[in-house]
Amino acid sequence: NELSRQGKLTFVVVGGGPTGVELAGAIKETATRTLPEEFRNIDTTTARVILAQGGPSLLPGMPEKMGQLAKSDLEAMGVEVRLNSHVTGVEADGILIGEERVPAENVIWAAGIQGTPIARSLGVELDPQGRVLVEPDCSVPGYPEAFVIGDAAHAIDANTGQPVPGVAQGAIQMATFVARIIVAEIEGNAAPERPSFAYHDKGSMATIGRGQALASVNGRTFRGFFGWLAWGLV
Ligand SMILES: Cc1cc2nc3c(=O)[nH]c(=O)nc-3n(C[C@H](O)[C@H](O)[C@H](O)COP(=O)(O)OP(=O)(O)OC[C@H]3O[C@@H](n4cnc5c(N)ncnc54)[C@H](O)[C@@H]3O)c2cc1C
Repeated sequence: NELSRQGKLTFVVVGGGPTGVELAGAIKETATRTLPEEFRNIDTTTARVILAQGGPSLLPGMPEKMGQLAKSDLEAMGVEVRLNSHVTGVEADGILIGEERVPAENVIWAAGIQGTPIARSLGVELDPQGRVLVEPDCSVPGYPEAFVIGDAAHAIDANTGQPVPGVAQGAIQMATFVARIIVAEIEGNAAPERPSFAYHDKGSMATIGRGQALASVNGRTFRGFFGWLAWGLV
């Protein structure tokens, strides 16, 4: 049954952030480079990989050029990248992208994260992802003795006025920042006013496939093998 075969070999990754971009590239590469010799009756190179992204570009939150390069690199590998494409339904053997129904038995949801449920018990304002809208010093509004950091926090970068991205370096920097405040206050040598958290972006990276990655460091973007080398070294 050709339709059933197509559905089984169609992979739709929903969400064009780093997770979705890396997954789409990895699936396409596995299908075209790793698996072809493993099956006699299935041509894995015919696997269709679709990356559906609701927004106008890939890798939102990273430099715009990274998103453009990710799109062209994925398309060169054979991934179908669909921008401004909202998934409106997932069925057992198909997916609805806008009005279009695509036969697909493999759907991978990579469209965002949710804050920890415990944040709801605090009784303070949360953002749509369930993260606590913290004060500039990362404390909980109205509770200067309580801090929320990392993925559970919606913190604003004092340098840019933009939300701190939900990445490991943001979490680590917030941890150091808050630890310094706590130590200074315990030791009694804190400044009269607490400082505001400022995020230092050390760069962004995403792998696209074997030996291929994108890296943005200090305003410079690397792709292909050099991007992958930078990713491997970091
Ligand atoms: C698929 C994926 C890929 C990612 N890739 C990257 C990347 O390449 N680079 C990057 O910088 N960031 C990446 N991130 C983001 C990064 O992982 C997070 O920003 C970072 O881990 C946040 O650190 P955290 O300490 O706030 O939360 P976490 O690392 O999630 O740690 C929270 C911990 O608390 C535990 N916990 C939760 N609730 C409770 C409870 N009630 N009691 C006790 N323990 C509890 C959890 O089990 C977990 O171990 C990625 C995230 C995902 C999901």
